[in-house]
Amino acid sequence: MSKLPDILIVGAGIFGLAAAHELQTRGYGRITVLDPGPIPHPLAASTDISKAIRMAYGPDEQYLLLAAAARDGWLRWNEQWGETLYHEWGVTMLTREPMAPGGFEYESYHLLHKHRFTPERLDGDEIIRRFPGWQPGRYVDGFYDAQGGWAESGRVITTLAQSATNKGIDLQPGHTVNEIIRQGGRAIGVRTQEGDTLTAGEIIVCAGTWSQLLLPELQAMMHSTGHPVFHLRPPEPALWQHPHFTVFTADISRTGWYGFPWHPQAQVVKIANHGIGQRLHPVDEARVVVAADELNLRTFLQDSFPELAAAPIVYTRRCCYSDTLDGHFWIDRHPEVAGLTVAAGGSGHAFKFAPVLGGLVADRLEGKPNPFGDKFRWRTLAAATQQEEAARYK
Ligand SMILES: Cc1cc2nc3c(=O)[nH]c(=O)nc-3n(C[C@H](O)[C@H](O)[C@H](O)COP(=O)(O)OP(=O)(O)OC[C@H]3O[C@@H](n4cnc5c(N)ncnc54)[C@H](O)[C@@H]3O)c2cc1C
Repeated sequence: MSKLPDILIVGAGIFGLAAAHELQTRGYGRITVLDPGPIPHPLAASTDISKAIRMAYGPDEQYLLLAAAARDGWLRWNEQWGETLYHEWGVTMLTREPMAPGGFEYESYHLLHKHRFTPERLDGDEIIRRFPGWQPGRYVDGFYDAQGGWAESGRVITTLAQSATNKGIDLQPGHTVNEIIRQGGRAIGVRTQEGDTLTAGEIIVCAGTWSQLLLPELQAMMHSTGHPVFHLRPPEPALWQHPHFTVFTADISRTGWYGFPWHPQAQVVKIANHGIGQRLHPVDEARVVVAADELNLRTFLQDSFPELAAAPIVYTRRCCYSDTLDGHFWIDRHPEVAGLTVAAGGSGHAFKFAPVLGGLVADRLEGKPNPFGDKFRWRTLAAATQQEEAARYK
C-alpha cells in the first residue's frame, strides 16, 4: 500500500495520460483516469493522425530546451514501444523574405546553433532542389532541421492508454465529470454526469479545451479556439512524400500555415493553420470548417504549392485549442483549493512535449522545483495579454 494519496485525473488526453504514468512511477496510490470516452476521444486535441515535433521556438530558450528533452524522450519511447510513432523526418521552416533579426525563423535558427544543434540554412535554389513541391522563387530563405518531424498522436494516446492499463492505472471511459466537489477549501472528489461520485486525495484537471467549464475561475485566462485542419489527397503523391517533402512551416508567424508530408497510413497531406482561430464554446457550438477557411487554404496552396492547389479535400476538422491568453501552458496547483491541480492550456503546441509533460505536472503537484515549471504557473492575465508563442500567427 502506498503512503502517497490516491489520484483522480479528469481527462485522458496527453496531459492526463502523461501525468498518470509519471505519478504511478513516483509511487502514488490508486490512480484513476476519467474520460467520457472512447479513448482516444474523437474531439480531443490529442486525437489526430499527426502532430509536428520541432525544437524551433524563436528566441525562447526555455521551450527549445524543453523540446530538446522531449525529443530525447520520443526517441526513447520509439525504442521502448518497439514501434516508431515519432517519425524523425525533419522540419523545414521557410520565409518569403530573407530571414532577419526578430523573425521567428532567424531567432530559431541562431538559437538552435547556439545550443549546438545543426539546422541547415537554405536559399531559394536549395529549397527547390531538395523540396521540389514548393513554388519556385516564392520562399527564399529558411532552414531544415533534421532533428524534428511528426508523431502519430492518436496512436500515441492508444499506446499510453494501453500501457497505463497494463501498469494498473484505472482508466475509466464513460465518465464525464461535471463537478469538482470542494469541502472546507479542499477538493475531495468529483461528480459525474452519469451519476457517480468518486473521491481521492488529489484531483488533477486535464480536460483540455473543456477545463474552464469545470473551473470557471479559469475563464478569464483560458478559452477554446477552433482551428481549421485539412486532409488533401493529391492523385500523384510523389512530390509530397518523405524525403522530398517534410513537416513544414510557411512563414508561419506571418501566415499561420504549416503541414505534413504524405501520411503513409492515412494517405493524405495534412495542412493546418496555427493562427488566431475562432473563439467558440467547446460543447454548445459546432466545430466546422466553413467555405472561407477552404478559400484561404486554396489561396495559400496556389501561392506556395501549385501542384497541390486543386487536390481533393477528403477530410476537414475544426480542432479546439485550450488557449491561454499568453499561449503558455497552465500546469500548477490551484492557489486557493488544496488537493487540486490543473494541467491544461496546451495552446496549440503542447503535444510535442508529451514525454516530459508528466514530470512537469508531478513536480508542480509535489511542489518540487522544476526549471520550466514557473513558465506554466497559475497566473493572473489581463484581458489585453498578447500571445507570446513565437510561431503563432497573431
Ligand atoms: C488543430 C490542432 C493542431 C495541433 N497541432 C499541434 C502540433 O502540430 N504539435 C504540437 O505539439 N501540438 C499541437 N497541438 C496541440 C496539442 O494537440 C494539444 O496541446 C494537446 O493535445 C492537448 O492535450 P490535452 O490533454 O490538454 O487535451 P485533449 O487532448 O483535448 O484531452 C482532454 C481530454 O479531456 C477529456 N474531457 C473533457 N471534458 C471532460 C470531463 N468533463 N470529464 C472527463 N473528461 C473530460 C476529453 O474527452 C479529452 O480526452 C494542436 C492542437 C490542435 C487543436
